[in-house]
Amino acid sequence: MLKEEDDLSWYARKADTLRKGIAVERAEDDADRAERVSSLLEALRRGGIKGSLERRTLYTRHLPPGCRGCLGGKGTNAFVTGLCTRDCFFCFNQKPRTDELVVHGIRLAEPEGAPEVVRRYGLRSVGVSGGEPTMRPERLLRLVRALRTLPFRVRIDLYTNGDRLSDALLSQLKDAGLDALRFNLVAREFDTEPVERALRYFDETAVEVPVIPEQLAEMKDMVLRLDALRVPFLNIHELFACRENSARVAEKGYGSGGGAGDALLWEPVAAADEAALSLLLFALEKTARLSVYYCSCRTQQDISSRGMQRRLRLAADARRRDSATRS
Ligand code: SF4
Repeated sequence: MLKEEDDLSWYARKADTLRKGIAVERAEDDADRAERVSSLLEALRRGGIKGSLERRTLYTRHLPPGCRGCLGGKGTNAFVTGLCTRDCFFCFNQKPRTDELVVHGIRLAEPEGAPEVVRRYGLRSVGVSGGEPTMRPERLLRLVRALRTLPFRVRIDLYTNGDRLSDALLSQLKDAGLDALRFNLVAREFDTEPVERALRYFDETAVEVPVIPEQLAEMKDMVLRLDALRVPFLNIHELFACRENSARVAEKGYGSGGGAGDALLWEPVAAADEAALSLLLFALEKTARLSVYYCSCRTQQDISSRGMQRRLRLAADARRRDSATRS
């Protein structure tokens, strides 16, 4: 049962579980890379990229609606289950995998406990993820329905690899009040079939993937196919190393690019920013409709800091209310 003193946010839990043991060596300094990055940034600026070049919060056309609450520090995650149908090398989930529901870092016995967590922490967007959340379809549907009982509007995005997303489940999710889907297409070797199916139910069917530097050619091809399919949004992340994925990230030959900041619990790999900027520039130049948003480790650092500041403010407000009631 949730208690008032359970002030453990998603980031706090991450701090607890992921901070230590990032076993990826620092990559050697590469002056050529710094020059290449600088040329990419200049080309993006000339091409009219939006957002902040310095903080690497960049987008080509529109900011995805599901990212606004998160960027404001009012977003959180609901992990439906740790179980998954895949085993991506970059996966940051805790291993061994556990089949439990965790909302905003708080373990819940029943999905119907989620609205209370969202209300208590003043949250406005929930990324429903896992593991693969569709491995527990009933739990997933109950969670979405429960969040829709809140007296205010909460944005709900489902993160999935699409392996178990049937037409029946898509239809039930639509009826339950889900806002949008975000597919991890890297997990499915860039197979867009589930995205095409989901577009029949959800206008906002998006794709969200880390940029894998060695797969940049496949990722550029994916950008063109998503644009042709009229997918509205592609979110790309800077590939990072954390405790749970660092051995496999190191096996791939990636080195760490150094910590992104105190509020962040993972480190970008050295080649990742350049690859992401290159994909962003490709999308800026070659697409007609697709909006591509780059959520970098620096962006995540900013989000984390904002989330921490909000929590401190909420705690101070609660203390003030308490002392006013007592006096
Ligand atoms: S699909 Fe997602 S949860 Fe599953 S292994 Fe890949 S990154 Fe991890």
